[in-house]
Parts: sequence; C-alpha cells; structure tokens
Amino acid sequence: MSHLIEGRAIAEKVYAELRGEIAELKKSGRTPGLAVVLVGDNPASRAYVRSKDKMCRDLGLHSLKLELPADTIQDELLARVRDLNNDRAIHGILVQSPPPKHIDEAAIIRAIDPAKDVDGFHPVNIAKLTLGDDSGFVPCTPLGCQRLLIESGTEIAGAHVVVLGRSMIVGKPLALLLMRKGKGGDATVTVVHSRSQRLAEITRSADILIAAIGQPEFVRAEHVRDGAVVIDVGINRVDDPTMERGYQLVGDVAFAEVSEKASAITPVPGGVGPMTIAMLMANTVRACRQSTAS
Ligand code: NDP
Repeated sequence: MSHLIEGRAIAEKVYAELRGEIAELKKSGRTPGLAVVLVGDNPASRAYVRSKDKMCRDLGLHSLKLELPADTIQDELLARVRDLNNDRAIHGILVQSPPPKHIDEAAIIRAIDPAKDVDGFHPVNIAKLTLGDDSGFVPCTPLGCQRLLIESGTEIAGAHVVVLGRSMIVGKPLALLLMRKGKGGDATVTVVHSRSQRLAEITRSADILIAAIGQPEFVRAEHVRDGAVVIDVGINRVDDPTMERGYQLVGDVAFAEVSEKASAITPVPGGVGPMTIAMLMANTVRACRQSTAS
C-alpha cells in the first residue's frame, strides 16, 4: 500500500502560511480582494463559487461574488470585467467556467487585467509561464499538483513525469511548470492525450504519473510502474444507487489497484481538489502584494 498524499492537510499548511502574509498586508492597510463572476446558474459552478467565497471569508480576504443572469450579453460582461480591472479593492478576478454558450470565453479572459488574472489563463500569463518568467500567474490546479509533489518529498528534478491530458487548464500548463528551470521544475516531461499511441508503454516509464483526462478510473495497475508517484487530478461523477445522492466521485485513476503499486498517491476527493482552491487564494494574496493599489 502506498503513502497517501493528503491534499487537505497540505492545503491547511498553505492556509497557515497565507494567514501570516495576510496579517502583514493588513498591517500596512491592504486587504487582498478576489472577485468571482458567475454567469448563469450551473449548479456545479454555483457550488465552486460558494466554496471560493467561503474560503476568502475564512482567511479574512475581501470577497466579491458577482452573480449575473444566464442571458447576460457579452458586452455587459466585458463592461463588468473592466470595472473590476479598475477597482482598487480587487486584486484577483476570475470568471467561473464554463460560461453560457453565447459568451466568448477567450475574449472575456483576454479582457481581464493580466496582473489580476489569478486563474493564470490570460495569454500574457501563459506566455510568461512558457518563457520561465516568474512574475506571471500559473493556473491553480497545476500549481497545486506541483505543491503536492514538493510537500510529499517527491524528487521532481530529473524525474520522468508523464502527464495524461493536454488541456489549457491542467495538462499543458502543468507540463510547462514541471519542465521549468529551477525549484519544483527540471523534470523530463512527456504529455499524452487521446491520439497518443503506446500510451501504457509511455505511462509505465513514468517516475511521476499525473492523470488529468476526465475518464473515470482510466489508469489501471498495468499503466503504472512499481514505486511511481501518482497524482490524480480527475473528478468524475459515476452513478451509485447505494449512495444517498445517487453518485460517487472517482478520479481518473483506479485507486484500489494502483495504490498497490505506487509509492505515493493522491486520493479523490481530498487530493488535488483542495489544493486548487488553496492556490487560488495564494495567487490572490500574491496579486495584492505585487499590486500598487491600496
Ligand atoms: P478536458 O476535457 O479539457 O481535457 C481532457 C484531456 O484528456 C484532453 O487533452 C484529452 O485529449 C485527454 N484525454 C481524454 N480521454 C483520453 C484518453 N482516453 N486517453 C488519453 N487522453 C485522453 O479536461 P480538463 O483538463 O479540464 O480536466 C481533466 C479532469 O480533471 C476532469 O476530470 C476534471 O473534472 C478534473 N479537474 C479537476 C480539478 C481539480 O481541482 N481537482 C480542476 C480541473 C479539472 P485530447 O486533447 O486529444 O482531446
């Protein structure tokens, strides 16, 4: 049985550090502020926005929750984003994904001031990550995965990391982050996706295997070499009539069998999920520190 990498406990450690930083900022009259914009009433998005708002309040951050109706037009949303760009009490802005279909999400992201783009999705921040420029914001889930590896004492430098999935939210920025020069980087990274051939052969060569594909329990024991470290980003609902809510959450990794082979593994839930929100808070605090606004 492998060592369990406890995301909740590591997130608590991040929060303890942040509380100190927030207290320092407040002493100098600055309170980090996060604005979360939700368009429409997607229940999952609503739940995410609620938990972000709650975490802000727990930490003593200024939290602005902007809930707009599903029929909000693009120009109205752009105007709201521009207002938030100019709001000196707000240091981080995020527009909860996915917005309704009529909204051009990429255009909304481009409208966010890169200095307030705490999700790290703005092209300027993606370019900075690619260039190895530390002044930008890195997307929260990849940052959380990296922190889990560091806190669990996993050697990243020189390791072969295989990332399953190439989305702009997880796989691609994670690959860039782990191959970056310096602390928490210097890995040899391979990215596999739905068109990859010999997938199992590649994943079996990983020292660190990170699954972010959105396929319930896709990664089986045969995909993993003995002693590998496995990070499971996936959050998938599968029907389960034995549960009161009718479903259970599983990752992209078949936990029971893979944990017999891996040296360390993250659970779902309680692994990457809590770290994503912790990193959002960390990015917001950093945005405040780096800003010139009061
Ligand atoms: P996307 O659907 O945007 O991307 C999935 C990626 O996986 C794509 O690159 C796709 O390949 C690849 N893929 C899909 N099926 C296969 C397969 N059978 N074999 C190999 N590659 C495959 O998903 P996200 O990156 O947004 O999310 C991935 C998972 O992580 C989801 O379960 C999501 O819920 C979860 N997630 C969890 C977060 C957390 O905080 N823990 C945060 C964000 C996401 P291709 O590009 O070829 O289509």
